[in-house]
Amino acid sequence: MEPEQYANLRFDWVAFVAAQGEYRRYVGDYILTENDVRTHRRFPDAVVRNSGAFCLHYPGDPTYDFRLKNWVWDVRDERPYDIPFRCLYSVNVPNLMMAGKHISVTHVAGSNTKFMGNGGQHAIATAAAAYLCGKYDTDPRGIQRDHLDELRATVSDFIDPIGEPTAEE
Ligand SMILES: Cc1cc2nc3c(=O)[nH]c(=O)nc-3n(C[C@H](O)[C@H](O)[C@H](O)COP(=O)(O)OP(=O)(O)OC[C@H]3O[C@@H](n4cnc5c(N)ncnc54)[C@H](O)[C@@H]3O)c2cc1C
Repeated sequence: MEPEQYANLRFDWVAFVAAQGEYRRYVGDYILTENDVRTHRRFPDAVVRNSGAFCLHYPGDPTYDFRLKNWVWDVRDERPYDIPFRCLYSVNVPNLMMAGKHISVTHVAGSNTKFMGNGGQHAIATAAAAYLCGKYDTDPRGIQRDHLDELRATVSDFIDPIGEPTAEE
């Protein structure tokens, strides 16, 4: 973006795995959508909240450049939204949970849930759920069915409880 400034920059670090802006996602018991995010839909099994812009990258042409081509940055209304626990475990693999870029969301919703800070929230919720799976000898869907209150309480030991919507929401 600033070739004059960086023309002679020394190369000092590169990730050992090439980064991707688009990922495979697992299907959970619920698939969070763009509409859910934009309308701030409340879910009874919300375990964490996510926030931030929709960050969409489209491969538009053969010279596709991550930063310069077909990049949509939609700040929407800058308000947080619920992540239901059903997006964090698989619909058909009983002992599989997801956090980060692979959770159960549509393409547009995933363009925000993939953010690092948001993935960290999912990780706290899935770690708490894994602890409860061990405690009750059950699987993630068993936690959703029988121990949701304890899951939400355990998560809220680490991050702010979700609670009721504020006036702004
Ligand atoms: C170019 C680029 C710029 C971005 N900029 C931002 C930004 O500014 N801010 C932001 O919040 N987000 C940004 N993102 C998005 C964000 O970085 C990612 O979506 C996020 O880091 C994904 O986290 P994750 O933990 O889900 O996956 P990852 O960070 O990809 O972690 C998955 C890990 O699993 C490892 N792994 C894979 N297979 C195996 C295996 N079989 N065994 C063991 N380990 C394995 C991988 O090596 C990797 O370390 C950007 C993404 C890209 C590609």
